[in-house]
Amino acid sequence: MPKQKQITGQEALDKLMEGNRRFVTGQLLHPHRTEEARLGLVSGQSPCAVILTCSDSRLLPVDVFDQGLGDLFVIRVAGGVLNDQIMGSIEYAVDHLKTPLVVIMSHESCGAITAVSQGVKLPGHTATLTPSIDAALKRAQAQGGNLINNAARELALSMAQEVTNSEPILADQIKSGKVMVVACYYELASGEVTLLSNEQDNIPIYSPI
Ligand SMILES: [Zn+2]
Repeated sequence: MPKQKQITGQEALDKLMEGNRRFVTGQLLHPHRTEEARLGLVSGQSPCAVILTCSDSRLLPVDVFDQGLGDLFVIRVAGGVLNDQIMGSIEYAVDHLKTPLVVIMSHESCGAITAVSQGVKLPGHTATLTPSIDAALKRAQAQGGNLINNAARELALSMAQEVTNSEPILADQIKSGKVMVVACYYELASGEVTLLSNEQDNIPIYSPI
């Protein structure tokens, strides 16, 4: 299989959003899942996007965007929160694999956010998830509406901002226009992915000029 042509972050985003439309409307293509696809990827990978999202079992990134083998570099952790290892994984994809798009995706009815919102003292290592979620909850409290889901949107936006500002690798790649970062939100019932902005107007705000 010939090496995939390098695409831009915007082209990768268009590809993912088209895949999500197929997922929502039940017209999945299930691309790149054949033996030929497997064999073509043995010598290397060139994923079009990094996806950082929650580990929630109701959210399957490769299916949500109707992609297949070799298409997405998926990083999952409860709540979809960032830490140094996760930032390092994003850097690996962007710097080493030349992935042009980073997608930070939160979701409806997130259990990790719900637990923190209830003031539950998370036991053991799960307590490390709390600070970012707590900050998102505080920002969402002023908004009215559904606290948990608004906090999920706030969390994705703040993680995207953190990635955008991350020195030394990501900030430079994003400023130079080689990489685009977007925040988005996944609805469990509809399966729809919505791009987020601070103005809630569905425009990705972290794209480079
Ligand atoms: Zn979750």
